[in-house]
Amino acid sequence: MKAVCWHGANDVRVDTVPDPKILNPRDAIVKITSTAICGSDLHLFNGYIPTMEKGDILGHEFMGEVVELGSAVKNVKIGDRVVVPFTIACGNCYFCTSDLWSLCDNSNPNGWLAEKIMGHSPSGLFGYSHIFGGYAGGQAEYARVPFADVGLFKVPDGLTDEQVLFLTDIFPTGYMAAENCNIKPGDIVAVWGCGPVGQFAIRSAFMLGAERVIAIDRIPERLQMASDYGKAEVLNYEEVDAGEVLKEMTGGRGPDAVIDAVGLEAHGNDLMGLYDRVKQELRLEPDRPTALRNAIVACGKGGHVSVAGAYGGFLDKFPMGAAMNKALTFKMGQTHVHRYLRPLLEHIQNGDIDPSFIITHRLPLEQAPHGYEIFKQKKDNCIKVVLKP
Ligand code: NAD
Ligand code: ZN
Repeated sequence: MKAVCWHGANDVRVDTVPDPKILNPRDAIVKITSTAICGSDLHLFNGYIPTMEKGDILGHEFMGEVVELGSAVKNVKIGDRVVVPFTIACGNCYFCTSDLWSLCDNSNPNGWLAEKIMGHSPSGLFGYSHIFGGYAGGQAEYARVPFADVGLFKVPDGLTDEQVLFLTDIFPTGYMAAENCNIKPGDIVAVWGCGPVGQFAIRSAFMLGAERVIAIDRIPERLQMASDYGKAEVLNYEEVDAGEVLKEMTGGRGPDAVIDAVGLEAHGNDLMGLYDRVKQELRLEPDRPTALRNAIVACGKGGHVSVAGAYGGFLDKFPMGAAMNKALTFKMGQTHVHRYLRPLLEHIQNGDIDPSFIITHRLPLEQAPHGYEIFKQKKDNCIKVVLKP
């Protein structure tokens, strides 16, 4: 089959690779009909995440049709049209049964390696390096999905791929980011980053009752989408001092909650804090002002700081004094996608939101390298790329 493979920083290629096989009775094979490139894929593309190997298949936002099933799978049938959460979860462990799906204890066979490198073992993710389980991703013609009974969600008839594809990640991620703000009527929420995650966080904050949402970015078309479609008030942080303006806009009190929908991109930190060999492979960016630091400093007293942006290892210059003295509450994590799939699907079915608003580019799988390039460089007004295998 054809698959998008990682070959090094800024080097992805469409290779011919062996088709995936059922390896475990709980597996399924999905023939992929739509798959997207995520801001998280840019961390791999930038070379920020260690333990990628040449030839690793990328992609964690995908959906398609079930074409093969292991003998133990009961909830799905061949021919079912399904979306696949990007977080891999067994459905049986303490964390899965506590509705904390992205913390599954049984989905990372390389947990020992992660433990050694990072001091903790994350759960498995599709297409996201060997410390996250070494699973082949879904920017491909086919993918193997483990724990298929809980890892595949049937799509109801009458909904297009583009309406449901983002249930795999960015819609639940934006929604959980907003939910972590503990929004009360009248609240003002500020969102750093108007990429796909930020856009869904903005929409979700309003769905959860925020009175005002103020969105911050530097890319004009992303700010435009946030204001036109998201109904947010917007600030370009290259034109104004966002912290000062936020203070004025909130009567001096600061927002009730802040969301970091940026993550690693803006940071020049010791990204993973790893042993020297891996550290040398990381490309450290210059130490720019960062979204998370700014968000903490801007957040009003007693407020919530919700971190959806992805981080690894250590983060220095963390404004701990501001966090402590303002009694801020921090919430973060990989999204518990399984928890949000059904309720968010209902919002789509009710017409509360059509997630396809985010798509700016539709490309054949073969053009994935071009898709990565324009998404990374924010060229051609690119906000979200969907690939069609
Ligand atoms: P993206 O790269 O398209 O968007 C990031 C946006 O942040 C860009 O528009 C950029 O211009 C803006 N930005 C950069 N520095 C900024 C700053 N200092 N202040 C304000 N804005 C700034 O990525 P995305 O797909 O929207 O993803 C956003 C983040 O969410 C990534 O870090 C990604 O890894 C993470 N993510 C996390 C989860 C999760 O489960 N927690 C899931 C999906 C994505
Ligand atoms: Zn993603």
